[in-house]
Amino acid sequence: MHLRTLLASAALALSFPVLADDHQHSLEAHVHGIGTLNIALENQLLELQLESPAMNIIGFEYQPTTTADIQSVKAAQNKLSNAAELFAFSPAAQCRLTSVSIENALLKGSGAHDHDHESQPAAEIAEHQHNDISAHYQYHCATPAQLNSIDLAGLFKLFTQTEKIQVQLIVGDHQQGAELSAKNTSLSW
Ligand SMILES: [Zn+2]
Repeated sequence: MHLRTLLASAALALSFPVLADDHQHSLEAHVHGIGTLNIALENQLLELQLESPAMNIIGFEYQPTTTADIQSVKAAQNKLSNAAELFAFSPAAQCRLTSVSIENALLKGSGAHDHDHESQPAAEIAEHQHNDISAHYQYHCATPAQLNSIDLAGLFKLFTQTEKIQVQLIVGDHQQGAELSAKNTSLSW
């Protein structure tokens, strides 16, 4: 067997345990400070899908139980909903936000806690839990042909624990990838 074939099949075999376990899959890919953003433009519909460790957005990943922590989660959720503060597009494209949906593992079951019992210190729990946040934004662009840049300066400014965003862009038949950071916030195509 050729060495390259052997290496390829070894890599494939190694990747299987990760793929086979759905529950672990997203955790394997989760690195604090790094998020991903998929951008797709089809006709006049522009879609953004942001996936991020909760750490980058909220600053912790444990289920909040104190009032202060629950408020932090809600405040971060509000910032994340405010797409105009996060993303800037080519103005001439006239893209208007039509919907936002956010999946935040730290908001599930909030408010249902009983605070009478002694809970574990948050710092201890934090060591053992990872949670992600995903946000989906849809825009309608009046002049999509004019859309040729996106700037994430606002996102990096609001979420300072976000170090890098790995961007994948699909506009018509054009595909492009880039790694953006606070020092390099924009992508043009
Ligand atoms: Zn984590």
